[in-house]
Amino acid sequence: MSLVTIGSVAFDALETPFGKTDKIVGGAATYITLAASYFTKENHIVGIVGGDFPQEMIETLRHHGVNTDGLQVDPSGKTFFWSGRYHSDMNERDTLDTQLGVFENWSPVLPESTQGADFLMLGNMVPAMQYETLRRFAKRPKFVMLDTMNLWMDIAKEDLLSVLKDIDCLTINDSEARQLSGEYSIRKAAKKILTMGPKTLIIKKGEHGALLFQGERIFFCPALPLEEVFDPTGAGDTFAGGFIGYLAKTGDISFENMKRAIIYGSAMASFCVEKFGTERLLNLSQDEIQERVLAFVQLASFEIVD
Ligand code: AMP
Repeated sequence: MSLVTIGSVAFDALETPFGKTDKIVGGAATYITLAASYFTKENHIVGIVGGDFPQEMIETLRHHGVNTDGLQVDPSGKTFFWSGRYHSDMNERDTLDTQLGVFENWSPVLPESTQGADFLMLGNMVPAMQYETLRRFAKRPKFVMLDTMNLWMDIAKEDLLSVLKDIDCLTINDSEARQLSGEYSIRKAAKKILTMGPKTLIIKKGEHGALLFQGERIFFCPALPLEEVFDPTGAGDTFAGGFIGYLAKTGDISFENMKRAIIYGSAMASFCVEKFGTERLLNLSQDEIQERVLAFVQLASFEIVD
């Protein structure tokens, strides 16, 4: 089934304990669509870049089967730029710089090919724009997922609460869940957030895995203890791309299938962090993905004997 992703397509400059990069291609929609490309063939990106964005990266997305009709290029402007520095435990990071460039006054245009989409991923960006994009679909996609961040809870909470009313699934990290709900207990936080609109909630806990909540049901997915964690940038987006890509591939949004999807999402995120930027997502094989999914299954499977 078809997937449309809307979000930032960016240049990132990163500092991790293992090194520094100059401007490299990043952005939420880039990570999401690359991860989803391993699952779904009908994979559309909607975003905007400036004249400084490398044409080769657009070709790379196309090479991965991503439909780029909705990726606008504004030759007179600059691509969104984000710079971040990770702390030594890498679950924490500071934003050093954000330059919105062409993203600032952008009004998303949905090409005809994106209308009729079954799955919609609203990547992290200004909540009013996420809301507006959802309204632009003549027919509401059957499954709408949204990612957001603490910044919008600080400066655009009302807009965020409005768009939350209309979505099916929210993905946030544990500190954001606490901030949004005002509850310290993750379980209480989830309960409260599930009254705000989304029927499904995913709380990401970085290197400690992720929790899936729906009604009274909870599922826990661990994160694979990796020997090398080089750069966590994009891990959350890659996770979301793997999750929704798997749902789009199977066309099944039951809770049981979401359990599988969350494992696939985590497997994709585990690849992402092994190299800087999107590098590790560019040349994965289905065998590698399957092998990693099996490692997740083994990590948490045991037999009870009495
Ligand atoms: P993640 O590590 O999954 O949270 O995502 C990191 C990506 O989000 C980077 O590639 C950035 O370009 C992008 N990003 C960071 N801040 C923002 C923002 N305020 N709006 C949209 N995208 C952002």
